[in-house]
Amino acid sequence: MAKYIERDAHGLVIEGFDEMSSITTTMMDQIWGTLYLGSMDDALNVAALTMHNIKTILTIMNYPISDDQRQPNITYHWINAQDVGNWDLLTYFPEANDIIDGAVTAGNNAGILVHCAAGVSRSATIVIAYLMQTLQRPYEEVRDLVRRRRPEIYPNEGFVDQLELFEAMDYCLDANDRRLRHYLLNTYVRAVEDGLDQYFQRLSVAEKLTLDMYYGVPYACISCAAVLFNEINVVKNYQYNGPDVCGRVFIEPQPWMSDQLAAPFDETVHELEVKCPHCRQVVAKCATMISNYKLLVKNIDCKCGHHNGVRGLKIMMLGIILDNKSMSS
Ligand SMILES: [Zn+2]
Ligand SMILES: [Zn+2]
Repeated sequence: MAKYIERDAHGLVIEGFDEMSSITTTMMDQIWGTLYLGSMDDALNVAALTMHNIKTILTIMNYPISDDQRQPNITYHWINAQDVGNWDLLTYFPEANDIIDGAVTAGNNAGILVHCAAGVSRSATIVIAYLMQTLQRPYEEVRDLVRRRRPEIYPNEGFVDQLELFEAMDYCLDANDRRLRHYLLNTYVRAVEDGLDQYFQRLSVAEKLTLDMYYGVPYACISCAAVLFNEINVVKNYQYNGPDVCGRVFIEPQPWMSDQLAAPFDETVHELEVKCPHCRQVVAKCATMISNYKLLVKNIDCKCGHHNGVRGLKIMMLGIILDNKSMSS
């Protein structure tokens, strides 16, 4: 059994044993109609694939099935994932659900196998998400349904949180929902060099899939009046209805800040000035802990009701005004 040590997309060290050799084989299980759930061994077992008439394979692992292991009559799909709780599967649910739904409704009794290394956590999460959306049923009910067909399923804790958030959003991605936005910020903007790019990319996927995306009131640069962000980008505790005693405005990172936030940091600098992309006026200070030249999401350490316990990048806006022009138009 080969031991491996690697870093995940968030820069966290993962230690483990080589997946292929350490997993004992179980057979793929028929979960719902022609939808099957199984392991990597199942995905390579030509006799079993033939027996169950598998025509589509969806791999949920950190590498795809290699060309020389593929069968000519099977369509292969791959979603990159490691079995760690802070790995984002949630924003890939719609893509996976489309693949599974296309296969399940194709007819001819053709089957689809969704698999990871063991068919326990990653692929089980994807199958549960598909059935939650298809049946419009909550997580625990669907987990029990899948478990009756495959007792060994056990989505890791972080994946369970993601499935419960999917349930809370009525089985779709809703980028108007601040819980999704906080989830993305905390998942991607963490000690990772390209985390910011991934964050913008996955947030944009979620916003495009959101029906009736509502960005809210625009805020503009006080110096040149260019719109810099909208109400939806403000980071605060929206469950708190008390008065705004602190008056400070913290926001999500914006794509126009990318170059400024991604620039190499001097570790002695504890506060980064963010400039308006149009007039170069300083419009924000990013006081986030900067460690090893990387940004870290942390608690916004303000004790007012709107910010206590809220996590973000601590980008505090300075030179901004409500854009009344855009509001009235
Ligand atoms: Zn400006
Ligand atoms: Zn505050």
